[in-house]
Amino acid sequence: MTTETLKDLYEIGEMPPLGHVPKKMYAQVIRQSRFGQPTQAFQVEVIDVPEIGPDDVLVYVMAAGVNYNNVWAGLGVPVDVIAARQKEGQPWDHHIGGSDASGIIWKVGSNVTNWKVGDEVVIHCGTWDVHAPEIKAGLDPMYHPSYRIWGYETTWGSFAQFTKVQAHQCMPKAPHLTWEEAAAPTLVGATAYRMLFGWPPHTVQEGDVVLVWGGAGGLGSMAIQLAAQVGAKPIAVVSSESKYDFCKRLGAVGCINRKAFDHWGRLPDWTDNESMAKFTAGARAFGKAIWDILGERKNPRIVFEHPGQDTVPTSIFVCDTGGMVVICAGTTGYNADVDLRYLWMRQKRLQGSHFANDEQAYAFNDLVVAGKIDPCLSRVFKFEETGLCHQLMYENRHPDGNMAILVGAPREGLKTLKGA
Ligand code: NDP
Repeated sequence: MTTETLKDLYEIGEMPPLGHVPKKMYAQVIRQSRFGQPTQAFQVEVIDVPEIGPDDVLVYVMAAGVNYNNVWAGLGVPVDVIAARQKEGQPWDHHIGGSDASGIIWKVGSNVTNWKVGDEVVIHCGTWDVHAPEIKAGLDPMYHPSYRIWGYETTWGSFAQFTKVQAHQCMPKAPHLTWEEAAAPTLVGATAYRMLFGWPPHTVQEGDVVLVWGGAGGLGSMAIQLAAQVGAKPIAVVSSESKYDFCKRLGAVGCINRKAFDHWGRLPDWTDNESMAKFTAGARAFGKAIWDILGERKNPRIVFEHPGQDTVPTSIFVCDTGGMVVICAGTTGYNADVDLRYLWMRQKRLQGSHFANDEQAYAFNDLVVAGKIDPCLSRVFKFEETGLCHQLMYENRHPDGNMAILVGAPREGLKTLKGA
C-alpha cells in the first residue's frame, strides 16, 4: 500500500490498511445539548482519532456491545458524564460511549509488550492508574480512586471506528465467535462473575439456590450460566412466561413471572401494620414460588440484584439466613428499603458490587474462549442504529440476552481479520 492510497477518513465498514491510523473517524457522539432519549442523544459525527499513551493501545472496533450504562450517559442522569470529566480537568466536550467491543489492535503504546498490531481481542471496561503504588502493592483496582469504566466514565468508547484503551483491558477474542457475538457479553459477564465469585465466603457453591432478577437480560443471562457452571440452582425472575425457555436453556432450574405479584416498590412505614402485612403476604407468596420450583423449603443463599428499589425489599426477605443479596444497580430507583429486622436477626449480607478487576474479567473470558458461555447475542444493529438499540433498552422492549452493533465488520458472521 503506497502512502498516496492512505486516507484521512474511512467509511464505516471500509477497513484502513492494517496499522494505518487515519486522522479522523466516525463516532456516535453524545453531547450535553442532546441529553435525553437515546434516539436523540446519539448522533454520528466525524471526530479526531485519539492519541494513545505509553500504556494504551488503539483498537479498530469491529463490533460493539450494548449496555445500559450508555442509556444513562445519553440521558445525562444520574451523572452528566461530560461535566464530571471536565471537573477532573479533561478538555473534551463530548462523550463516545460503548463499554464492550471486539476488534483488532491497530497501534500499541511504547510500554506495551503483550499485544502487537493485528491481534484480535475483546475489551473489558475496567480502567485505572496502572502505575498507582497501592494497586502495584495488591489493592483491588476497583477500590482505587482512579478506577473508571471505559466508554462511560472515559471519553473514547467503542461506538466509533477506533477506541483508546489500556493494554490490560484487552483479552483474546474467542476464535469460534463472530465479531458481533464476541463483542456482546464481557461487561455483563465479568460483572456477574465478580458478584457471584468475588465476595467470599458467599461465593456460589454447588447446590446453592441463586435467585437471578432479570434472568433474560444481559446480566441475568450471564449469571444463570455462571451459577449453573458450578452446579448451583439458578432461579430466574422474568416478566413474561415467554422468557422461560430462554432462561431454562441457559441452566435455570425454574422461572418466576414477576407480573403474578404486586407487592413491589418501597416498603410502607413499619408502624403501618396493615400495609406491612400486605407486603409480607406478597413476599411470602413469592418465596413460596421459589420453594415450589425446588420442591423443598430452601431459600436462596445468593440473590443476584440489580432492579433495586422495586425488588430489594423482597430480595432481603427471601434471602436465606446467613445468605447474601449482591447488588450492582438500581434500574428501578435508588431508594431501596431494607427491613433491618430481617438483615440483623437472620444475619444476611447486603453487598454492593461493581464491574470486575483484571483477574475476574480474564477468568470470565477464559470461560467464553472455552465455549462454556453462550454470549446470548439476540440482535445485531447497524452503526447508525446505535440510538435505536439504546432506546429499546431504555423502554425494556429489547430482545432477551445481549445486543451488538456492527462498526468495522462489514457484515454479520465474520470471525477473523482474514474474513473467515
Ligand atoms: P437488561 O435491560 O438487559 O436487563 C435488566 C432486566 O431487568 C430486564 O431484562 C428486565 O427483565 C428486568 N427488570 C426490568 N424492570 C424490572 C422490575 N421493575 N423489577 C424486576 N426486574 C425488572 O440490563 P442489564 O442486565 O444489562 O443491566 C441491568 C442494570 O444493571 C442496569 O441498570 C445497568 O446499568 C446495571 N449494570 C451495572 C453494572 C455494574 O458494574 N455496576 C454492570 C452491568 C449492568 P424482566 O422485565 O423480564 O423482569
